[in-house]
Amino acid sequence: MQVISNIQEMQQWSRQKRLQGLTIGLVPTMGYLHAGHLSLVRTARQQCDVVIVSLFVNPMQFGAGEDFEEYPRDISRDKDLLENEKADILFTPQARDMYPPGYSFLVETEGEITGKMCGASRPGHFRGVTTVVSKLFNICGPDKAYFGQKDAQQVTILEKMVKDLNFPLEIIRVPIVREPDGLAMSSRNVYLGSEERREALVLYRSLQAAAEAIRDGEKSVEELKRTIIAIINSSPQAQIDYVEINRADDLSSIDRIEGTVLIALAVKFGTTRLIDNLIVEV
Ligand code: AMP
Repeated sequence: MQVISNIQEMQQWSRQKRLQGLTIGLVPTMGYLHAGHLSLVRTARQQCDVVIVSLFVNPMQFGAGEDFEEYPRDISRDKDLLENEKADILFTPQARDMYPPGYSFLVETEGEITGKMCGASRPGHFRGVTTVVSKLFNICGPDKAYFGQKDAQQVTILEKMVKDLNFPLEIIRVPIVREPDGLAMSSRNVYLGSEERREALVLYRSLQAAAEAIRDGEKSVEELKRTIIAIINSSPQAQIDYVEINRADDLSSIDRIEGTVLIALAVKFGTTRLIDNLIVEV
């Protein structure tokens, strides 16, 4: 595996591969890799001739007071993991090159798809994501780009961005990878104290309970949310940011369960904010 930090060098590498007729898979990450990230890399490895994994902790998608400075980093461990997965390139651009002095352009995302859930609690977050991902698309020129269902709103917004802005590539969604006890894998899980880690299991339990209630015929979104909130609140440490049930395809609001729905939540344990979700087809 080759490590490239220079943007022009990355662009040239990708141009060469395209001229050779090879398909390019891109896996954007913020590093501190775990089995969830590696599942994206493995899927890309199966579907594309060459695989680029980008590692960039994007300052633009962190709000004031969020964890940009503390975000866990261990690039030498990430390198070893990616060597094992046979990634071709680890692309590690520097913030000063991605956003040099005088940088002026943003990719703005708006509407119902962006204004709710994480978009409501983290203003500007998705503008940071759509901007950096657009830049990574222009730099790496992928045929396919891989994103986790773990960040359900993010991947939905990026699918819409690719459609609305005519990026010539396909977004591939990869299912959530969980710890054996059900907690969704996240780089942020290392922040959790042992008590918080135990209590964080209420997230997946509450999602499963709602899915079961839907399968048993419950149609009321309000009632399902009450069930989820009661389970989460059984954890003394949990502070709910949001619990939402929306249409899975465009995140539009519903009162009654119909078609495929996305149950999504964000909950804080101490200072650690965790997200999780489940798609349920009726
Ligand atoms: P991050 O490094 O947190 O920005 O994540 C990079 C990519 O990995 C995103 O597309 C995430 O949705 C995806 N990802 C993170 N955690 C998981 C997980 N537990 N299962 C599947 N994909 C994940």
